Amino acid sequence: MPLKAAVIPVTPLQQNCTLMWCDETMKGVIIDPGNEVDTIIEAVGEVGIKVERILLTHGHFDHVGGAMDLSERLHAPIFGPHHDDEFITTAVVKAGTFYNLPGGRDVAGNTWLSDGDTVTFGNVTLDVIHTPGHTPGHVVYYSASAKLAQVGDVLFQGSIGRTDFPRGDLNTLIHSITAKLWPLGNDVTFIPGHGPNSTFGRERATNPYVGDAALA
Ligand SMILES: [Zn+2]
Ligand SMILES: [Zn+2]
Repeated sequence: MPLKAAVIPVTPLQQNCTLMWCDETMKGVIIDPGNEVDTIIEAVGEVGIKVERILLTHGHFDHVGGAMDLSERLHAPIFGPHHDDEFITTAVVKAGTFYNLPGGRDVAGNTWLSDGDTVTFGNVTLDVIHTPGHTPGHVVYYSASAKLAQVGDVLFQGSIGRTDFPRGDLNTLIHSITAKLWPLGNDVTFIPGHGPNSTFGRERATNPYVGDAALA
């Protein structure tokens, strides 16, 4: 299994910036560099990978704030999220000011992703799954061979993403989780945007919002 992953919590919101790499080629990606670019670059150096792309799950400032600096310093292009998050990725500075967590930059020049796209680094391929609800352009990155997903703010251990932000929608989020994530299998491990990992099976059994019992 060539896919390896490491999580670097960044920002006061403890957002899970994730390094994923192919240990056969040591080529990798950085998912959701919310900020603290120096810390992320240090971690990249410790693991010893060549970062080929920066991937974004959705446009919220705590997930994308460091993307432009990192892209420039590592000469790595930015991919994602889905185009429907453009109104958020282009308002990062505004959001940082609003939440009194400045330092991020608006995202520009990124390649938008769509449901069914794939992202490859070394011998690893990630599937792109469009999962709206928390934000309209949220995507999940999934490795079928490793049974590992980075789900951003769609799903958490014991919770789900907030839907009270502009263009958030609870029913859409629940549909994204039950129709697009659950079919991937109970044995899929996921890294959420904040907090500890879990598996889809564990959440189906215990999650008070989207567990099988909650939706029955
Ligand atoms: Zn978010
Ligand atoms: Zn978040």
